[in-house]
Amino acid sequence: MIPPDHPRYRSLVTRERLARCAKEGVVAMEGLTAHGRGEAFDYLIGERTTESALLAEQTAAAMLLAATRPVISVNGNTAALAAQEIAELQKACGAIVEVNLFHRTEARVAQIEKILRDAGAEVFFGPAEQLLPLSHDRAWCRREGMYTADVVLIPLEDGDRCEALVGMGKKVIAIDLNPLSRTARKATLTVVDEVTRALPAIARACRDLSAEEKSRLLSTLDNHYLLSEAIREITARLSHALD
Ligand code: ATP
Ligand code: MG
Repeated sequence: MIPPDHPRYRSLVTRERLARCAKEGVVAMEGLTAHGRGEAFDYLIGERTTESALLAEQTAAAMLLAATRPVISVNGNTAALAAQEIAELQKACGAIVEVNLFHRTEARVAQIEKILRDAGAEVFFGPAEQLLPLSHDRAWCRREGMYTADVVLIPLEDGDRCEALVGMGKKVIAIDLNPLSRTARKATLTVVDEVTRALPAIARACRDLSAEEKSRLLSTLDNHYLLSEAIREITARLSHALD
């Protein structure tokens, strides 16, 4: 039992939940180490949504709303951390929610689909095929889902798959706390924020943005600027960390 007055209560509860999900097979063991890397960057960022992250979140909303076939790709970590937030974002933007795993088994896909449905999401399902230009299991997706999507939101994704999706001509929105990762640098747009803060912020922007704001955000999208701002915000914070 984690004491609620522990200064790192939220982080400890999250770790406990991920460990439980790993025992149940929903989260891959490798997913636990990925979470650790995310936590480290969140520490550097200050565990808050920065100004540049908010701008990225609003731009992500504009991209999802402007898409013809938007798809939200969900893996084990995302389902364990943010199933409800995925369902809320789906309601706000009308995207397809599809489970896509790096460490894929049919049993894990079914488990994660169930978590999402229980949280209120409408989950796209059906037979998957090896359609992405990647070796092994990472190539699997649905023809009518991610394969034909024009905009794909990929929370906590690997750089290879991000690059493959961009190479297929898709607009890719990444959520990744590490502004230096290959995913962050290859994506069309990167939201450098923690997934449970990022998804509700994108959903809020979907509901609130005016038509003019959306078109301004789309025409001024500059991922290099957003990533440099994220790094600048981390550096500025670190330079006063011990004050
Ligand atoms: P890449 O393959 O893009 O170079 P990587 O190999 O360093 O990145 P992966 O394990 O492939 O890392 O991807 C997981 C990414 O998800 C990491 O960059 C990590 O920072 C990020 N991440 C982990 N947990 C969270 C979270 N809760 N919210 C946002 N990002 C997270
Ligand atoms: Mg990787």
